[in-house]
Amino acid sequence: MPPTVFERQPADHAAVGLSLADTRHDVLWFEGLDRPRHDSLSGRIDADLVIVGGGYTGLWAAVHAKQRHPDTRVVLLEGERVGWAASGRNGGFCEASLTHGHENGVRRWPDEIDELERLGRENLAGLVADVESYGIDAEVQATGVLAVAVEPHQLPWLQEETGDHAVYLDREQVRAEVNSPTYLAGLWDRSEAVLVQPAKLALGLARTAADMGVTIFEHSRVTELDDNGNGVVVRTGAGSVRARQAILATNVFPSLLKRNALMTVPVYDYVLATEPLTPEQLSEIGWNNRQGLTDLANQFHYYRMTADNRIVFGGYDAIYNYGRKVRPDYEDRPETYTRLAEHFLTTFPQLAGIRFTHKWGGAIDTCTQFCAFYGTAKGGKVAYASGFTGLGVGATRFGADVMLDLLSGAQTERTTLKMVRKRPLPFPPEPIASLGINVTRWSLDRADHNEGNRNLLLRGLDAIGLGFDS
Ligand SMILES: Cc1cc2nc3c(=O)[nH]c(=O)nc-3n(C[C@H](O)[C@H](O)[C@H](O)COP(=O)(O)OP(=O)(O)OC[C@H]3O[C@@H](n4cnc5c(N)ncnc54)[C@H](O)[C@@H]3O)c2cc1C
Repeated sequence: MPPTVFERQPADHAAVGLSLADTRHDVLWFEGLDRPRHDSLSGRIDADLVIVGGGYTGLWAAVHAKQRHPDTRVVLLEGERVGWAASGRNGGFCEASLTHGHENGVRRWPDEIDELERLGRENLAGLVADVESYGIDAEVQATGVLAVAVEPHQLPWLQEETGDHAVYLDREQVRAEVNSPTYLAGLWDRSEAVLVQPAKLALGLARTAADMGVTIFEHSRVTELDDNGNGVVVRTGAGSVRARQAILATNVFPSLLKRNALMTVPVYDYVLATEPLTPEQLSEIGWNNRQGLTDLANQFHYYRMTADNRIVFGGYDAIYNYGRKVRPDYEDRPETYTRLAEHFLTTFPQLAGIRFTHKWGGAIDTCTQFCAFYGTAKGGKVAYASGFTGLGVGATRFGADVMLDLLSGAQTERTTLKMVRKRPLPFPPEPIASLGINVTRWSLDRADHNEGNRNLLLRGLDAIGLGFDS
């Protein structure tokens, strides 16, 4: 196969080894943050609304439930700690898109795409406004996202996408923004994305919810959900909550509803963070506008700067493990960390000698339509939203509103969307799931090595709406 730029211009082997010599397995985003503890549930309590899951989806649902009806008694149950899963580990790219990008949206809902994109822009503006009005310090940066072409075959893809909100940058212009010898051109979308500090957003939402009167329990994993006639009851090992309604915001974790058991699979994504760059290193790479960066391959990287001038660099490998389990031991993958370090140093060879201080992994909530699906259960008393597929930082807020609309019984613009009403296909059971996902991943890698040309399998998946194109 023809090599990619990361193979044509390999990083210095010794610099890669040095960069990972003392890296801690820990999520950078929580470092130095005050993480208030919440009790775990014991005994029986009553509520109007019980929310299962303390990531962005559950937290936005809690905040917006109180915003809509301040007297509602809301209880949120989190199995571990608030924001510990994807919501505290992501790249912080907070995009307007609700459909995992324009291409995916227009392919699936062509007659709805304008409305979906307007709703996405409104959701992003609403998120920024909420964060400001609740005084959440989520380090929101309106720097936009710069997509870079690193292979000649990616250049036409960039030109196709130039629109009124994105600016095309040629080779000199893109390197004037961020100085990498791998960049051939770029597209800077300045209005449809912001960057956030992921853990600060999650903890800030939890604080806001608690200030509004939401009762949060941690270390309270729900194991059962039952209809009890007038409402629902959820049980943990040590307690239960009886409520009129429930919201399931459990994302990629095993669903409490049988019908959703096969709807998502965990695909592991990995991240490195450097030490803070020195002024000399900063002047070597430029990056004064601090955009989020991403490249255009199927197996793409995403990277950004932090407030203290580190670079957070993630993506590329997307690992599915047989059996669709979420397990802590899947979060450490030395070969992926080495590959990420190699690709980082190919991207920024002038930073040879830099060290990565943190590494971590997390499960991406993948579903077959690559953006969230929604629905109700137990006679309309339970609502769920799940499957944000790696673009949930912004879209989870929209998902929370959809669930609150569904529970209200009112028809809203959100609940009448085809995207909301129609469920995607589930993944098949094992061993077919693992075979299918791994062959698809292999094909995507081949396409990246073959000028983007998609093989028969990928073209077949595209034709039936299961193809993935980042
Ligand atoms: C490494 C990585 C990088 C990413 N980068 C980006 C990015 O840059 N931009 C972007 O838009 N998206 C990104 N994502 C995706 C994004 O983080 C998620 O889509 C989003 O955080 C999903 O939020 P959530 O609340 O639905 O799920 P989660 O954050 O996973 O929260 C679900 C919560 O539910 C709890 N739970 C589950 N089951 C139960 C139960 N039975 N009882 C009690 N609690 C339960 C879990 O403990 C968990 O805390 C990334 C994801 C990862 C892993």
